[in-house]
Parts: sequence; C-alpha cells; structure tokens
Amino acid sequence: MQCYDLASRSNHRQPDRRKSTMPYTSEFYSVNEAKKPAANRVHHNNSACAPGRDIPQDERRPGKGPSGETYRLCEDCEKKNKEEGR
Ligand SMILES: [Zn+2]
Repeated sequence: MQCYDLASRSNHRQPDRRKSTMPYTSEFYSVNEAKKPAANRVHHNNSACAPGRDIPQDERRPGKGPSGETYRLCEDCEKKNKEEGR
C-alpha cells in the first residue's frame, strides 16, 4: 500500500506567514489611564507609537476607553498616522 497522501499534502502546503507591516492597529488604551486626570487620558491606534508600545499587553484594553467613556487619540498616534498619510 502506498501512501501518496504525503506527497499531495506537501504540494498543498503554502507558507502563510504574513508579516503585518502596517503600524496602524485597532484602538487600545491602558487600564492606567483611569488613574490620570480625565483630560490626559488617551487611547492609541498606531503600533509605532512609543507611549502606546510602552503599555504592557496585560494593561491594554481594546477600544477607545472603558464603557461610557471615549478617550481622545494620543498625539503620537495622530502624528504617526499623519506621517503614513492616513
Ligand atoms: Zn499613541
């Protein structure tokens, strides 16, 4: 008995490692924003943003703020977004 299944499978294999080169990411904010004065609270949407990158994964929350609140967009993100022509 021959196993031609293996051969057909290797044929079928496709490398699917797509690297995301787009710094734009979905909005997130830090749980620590809540400790700041309301006017200073921001959310991020650019993965190239330094303050955004400083937020550890476990302190990040998706969205523009906790329910009922919308933090403004961080200035660094805004700058980065503009540099990328968004
Ligand atoms: Zn930012």
